[in-house]
Parts: sequence; structure tokens; C-alpha cells
Amino acid sequence: IRHPIIAGNWKMNKTIREAQDYAGRLLGLLGETTEIDVVVCAPFTALSTLKDELEESVIHIGAQDLSFAGNGAYTGEISAAMLVDTACTYVIIGHSERRVILRETDEEIAKKVKAALKAGLTPILCVGENLAQREESKAFAIVRSQVEKDLPDLSPADLKRVVIAYEPIWAIGTGKSATSADAQEMCTMIRSTLAGIAGAVADEVNILYGGSVNADTIVELMAQPDVDGALVGGASLDPEGFAKLVLNA
Ligand code: 13P
Repeated sequence: IRHPIIAGNWKMNKTIREAQDYAGRLLGLLGETTEIDVVVCAPFTALSTLKDELEESVIHIGAQDLSFAGNGAYTGEISAAMLVDTACTYVIIGHSERRVILRETDEEIAKKVKAALKAGLTPILCVGENLAQREESKAFAIVRSQVEKDLPDLSPADLKRVVIAYEPIWAIGTGKSATSADAQEMCTMIRSTLAGIAGAVADEVNILYGGSVNADTIVELMAQPDVDGALVGGASLDPEGFAKLVLNA
């Protein structure tokens, strides 16, 4: 019922030209079919180029944020419908960099998840604790609370379409990945939290791990029963490296 997903998060990197070059190279390396859903989450400015390059391909296009509002007086924001217009099918929501640097709240994130689902986009909801919280043994409580607050009153049919990415903040961009056992343990906890909210549908939700994943560490991560894939930052920036990671997954 679940299928593996490897999503690259470029963060604030790549010009239009660089995105175009990347798309051509990644397509060439991955070929026509892949058993894994490969997603490239690009800055807004590169999305229309990726539509031209990838819309008819096996590589899915994702954004890194969206507005909770449908349209109107929200200067600087980008709506779900605009993302659909650029052939996006995925959107990252609640990344820790937005929660921490831009003070995004669980209330806003919950509204963004709903806006994405309403437009037919697959939200990739990011959750995860920081180092102090882990050291104080609060990691499980923090992540459970994020899952509960960010996914309030969703129908089982909607919940099934949500992808959750467990990204411990201390592992992001640090080269210090969680062990695959730690990733598995947290992903299991997330799944049981979902089961508490919505019952059996929890078994159909894709849960990813993110934080310093590379072409080597992906192998053991994918062997964990509750880890359905990865959200990859730094190691997704180079198409050759990212293709290798996908092929190892
Ligand atoms: P790194 O893979 O660079 O640690 O980033 C992880 C991440 O934040 C993906 O969203």
C-alpha cells in the first residue's frame, strides 16, 4: 500500500538555468521508469522551467511552501492553485527552517496542509525536535504534538494523502544523521500517533526521514519497516549524486 518516495529539497538554491540543466541530467540518469517516486522540490522561480522539462516525465515536481489562503491580498505569497499551474504535485510544509527562522506556527501549518489537500497537492509535512529537546528526552512528546496540531480533524481519506517527514533539527545539514534505528523508532511513534487519530489508515501513510541522508546511509534507512523514504537536502543538489542515492534506495 505504501510506496517509497525520495524527495530532494533544494532549499534556496539554483537559478532557472541551473534548474533546467539539473532536470535534463537527472532525467538522463534515472531513465523512463523508477519504482520509487522521485520528487524535486525547487524554489518558486524554477518551477515553471521544471514544468517544461519534467511534466511528462517520471520525476515529480514539488514546491517548498505555499500560502494557506486561496488568493487575494497576501503580498509575496504563492497559492496552491499557482503551484498546480506549474505542474507541482507535492509541496513541503512546515520545514524546521521556516518554523525556526520565520516563526511559522502549528496553526499556520495546519491551514497550509488543508490548502494543499484541497488543491489536490500532496503535502510533505515536516516535523522534528531540536538538540536540546532530544537531550531532555522530549523528542517523542514534541513530534507527537506537532503531528496532532498540524493534522487536526482530517478525514481518513485526506490523511492517507499526507506524507510526513521526520527531520530532527540537529541532523539537518550537520552531516550527523540519526541512526537508522532512531529514525525507525520515531517513524513508528508517528505511525501510532496517526493510528490514534484516524485508525487503520495510518498504515497507508508514507513517512520519510530527513537529515544528512546520503547515497550510503539511504540503504540502511530504507531497510527500516516504518521508513518509507527520505527528504534529502544537500545530497540532492547535484544530479549525479542524487541519482545515485535514488538508485541505492
Ligand atoms: P540535509 O540533507 O542537507 O541535512 O537537509 C535535510 C533537510 O532539511 C531536507 O528538507
